Formats: sequence, C-alpha cells, structure tokens
Amino acid sequence: MASIEMKDIVKQYGDGFPAVNGVSLDIADGEFMILVGPSGCGKSTLLRMIVGLEDITSGDMVIGGTRVNDKAPRDRNLSMVFQNYALYPHMSVYENIAFPLRLAKTPDDQVDRLVKEAADVLELHEHLERKPANLSGGQRQRVAMGRAIVRQAEAFLFDEPLSNLDAKLRGQMRTEIARLQRRLGITTVYVTHDQTEAMTLGDRVCVLRKGSIQQVASPRELYEQPVNLFVAGFIGSPPMNFLPATVQGSTLQTPFGPVELDERRAAAVAGRDLLLVGIRPEYFEDASLVDEAKKHVGTTFTAKVDVTEWLGDQQYAYIPYEAPDQIRTRLRDLSKELDSEELRTQAIVSIDSTSRIREGREAEFWLDTRKVHVFDPETGENLT
Ligand code: ATP
Repeated sequence: MASIEMKDIVKQYGDGFPAVNGVSLDIADGEFMILVGPSGCGKSTLLRMIVGLEDITSGDMVIGGTRVNDKAPRDRNLSMVFQNYALYPHMSVYENIAFPLRLAKTPDDQVDRLVKEAADVLELHEHLERKPANLSGGQRQRVAMGRAIVRQAEAFLFDEPLSNLDAKLRGQMRTEIARLQRRLGITTVYVTHDQTEAMTLGDRVCVLRKGSIQQVASPRELYEQPVNLFVAGFIGSPPMNFLPATVQGSTLQTPFGPVELDERRAAAVAGRDLLLVGIRPEYFEDASLVDEAKKHVGTTFTAKVDVTEWLGDQQYAYIPYEAPDQIRTRLRDLSKELDSEELRTQAIVSIDSTSRIREGREAEFWLDTRKVHVFDPETGENLT
C-alpha cells in the first residue's frame, strides 16, 4: 500500500483552459479520498493521471515515495475499477479474478490460494464458476474488486463505479465498498459527482471546481465549515439557502428579519455592504414546535409559505423572499457553476413532519442563528 502525493499537477489539453490547474493533494497510506465536483471539473482527468492513463503536463505525481510521472500504468501497481467493471464475459468469476495473476505468470497453487482468499473476503466463493452475465450488478462489482485485491495493488482507484446502478443497488454497493475498504485498509481514490457517496464513503473529500481544489476536508467539516459559496452550495441536499443581507453593527438585516451575530462573526463582517447569508434548511423549525428556552438562542419570524412537501420523517416548506437584482444574478451564476437547478429566491426550510403549517398561509418559523454563515457575494469567501 502507498501514499499518493500530487504536487502542482497541471493537465492541459490543447490550448484551452487547463482541465487540471495546479492541484496539490496528499493522500495518506490507507486513506479513502473522494474527488467530487460538477461535470467537467477535472476529477476523472486527475484520476487518470494517477493511474497513468493520461500524461501529466507539469507537476509531480509521487506514489509510495517514488515519482511516477514517466512510469507506464502497469508499472504503477494501482488497480482501477471502472463503471462497467471491465470483466471478461467468457471467463468464470474465478478466472476473471485470477486474470492479473495469470498475466504475471503466477504459479497455479498460488493463484488458487489468492483467488479463494479474495473470494472469501468478497463473499463470492459460491459464485466462482459462474460467468459475469449470471451475476447481479453488485456481484460484478465485487469481482472487479477481487481482481484488485489479488494483485495486492498499492491503491484502488474508482471512477464513478456505481453510476450505472439503480438507486437501491447503489446504496447497497456504497455500504459494501465502505466496509471492504475499511477491512482491507487500502489507499483509495474515488471519483463521483454524487454527494451522498462523497459524504458517506470518504475519510476526506476533495471538492474540485474548474480544475482547482476548493477545499479538502472531512465530510463533517465540509458540511459545517465550507470555505466558500461554491462548496457550501455543492454539499448538502436540499442545498444551503443564500439570502441577501446588510449589516448594521452586530446585526444582519435579512429578508426574514434581523439576525444577531456573535462577536467573532460580527468582527468578520464589520464594514461590509451587501452580503449573502448561508442557512441550511435544517437550521429552521416551525416556531410552534420549539420550546421557549431554545427560542432565545435564535430568532423567530413570520412568512408566507408557498409550497410544502411532506416526506414522512420531515417536511420542506418553500418561502419566497425579495432580493435585489445583484443577488439574483449572483445566484443564477452560482447555479450554473454548480451544475444545479437554479437557486431561486425562495428559502427551503426543513421542519418537523408533525408541523401544521399550510400552503398559502403565514406561519411562524424559528431560525438557529448560531449556525448561519456569511459570504462575500463577489469573492464567494466564507467570512465566518
Ligand atoms: P464528468 O463528471 O463529466 O466526467 P470530470 O470532472 O470528470 O467530468 P474531466 O473528464 O476530467 O471532468 O474533464 C475536465 C475537462 O477536460 C473538461 O472540460 C473536458 O471537456 C476536458 N477533457 C477531458 N478529456 C479531454 C480530452 N481527451 N481532450 C480534450 N479535452 C478533454
């Protein structure tokens, strides 16, 4: 197993904007690292440069302490699991797993031992004689991983391995990959644009945008302390709400009334003009369901509810608000960058499923003001 160090990696196709634009990232031995970002951000290109399928324009790729820029893929001893698993249809599961060992002319008895060990770990021992066509998607995935295990690769590389599966199987496979990676402790780099995968699988997540790293952090830190509007808007579903605000002393004036800032936040926004306040849907609650003691740590406001969506364990309410043109334009641009539905000037609030709020009626909401983020609308930087 090995660490993977990237130093100022650039990939330039033709003379356009670099697909990867100066990425420096250290992945520790045994770490599970996720590369995530909207379509075209360069995540697959970066993965392909690690494995050696793509030349590196400049920078250093160091695997297990050795610079590998000029090493062929087969000499890097990495194992890539593709979306379609690249299994040979005419070979049995046994032979598919054994394939890299046969290539390396490994003696038969050793092949047998390694394949059976891998099949045990992957719970494939009952299927060793089957052909891939007779396996479920999840089992095929495991065969592909079995190949990587027998090779005793330095690292696993996954490029959106679950994107062809239906939602249920995707969930199962996600859990399975997480379990296996922990059990095997193999350094893993996993590309996805699915934020559930990003948040649940990785020890750390690297968020990319236009070929550059925005933030590398644990899933929790990304969620709670996004460094900028891009990361804040990308991580979380439904997405964080961004509301316009002006600042007066330690008070933010928002479309939902004043938000009192603590000393640290107030100092960070002092002297600013127009700002964007970031509030996750779950920072809100139906005020009638919040006890008095808790109410004091936040603010309450009245607003007209447009639409509600009841999901069983919670419900969403959509609350339109007014915003200046400048903010509308900024939100539209951000939506494009995030490759997401337009961030409209309505807040999505997630409240308890027992709430009795009604569409088209006014309701009182509570907002946990301790958790709000404040962003510079121009640079996108999280000021808090
Ligand atoms: P997706 O999620 O859509 O696969 P991605 O984040 O993996 O996107 P890449 O496939 O790495 O993005 O592509 C990054 C950028 O490089 C894109 O603008 C893409 O069009 C460009 N690109 C990728 N491969 C090539 C190539 N072989 N020649 C020219 N440009 C390329």
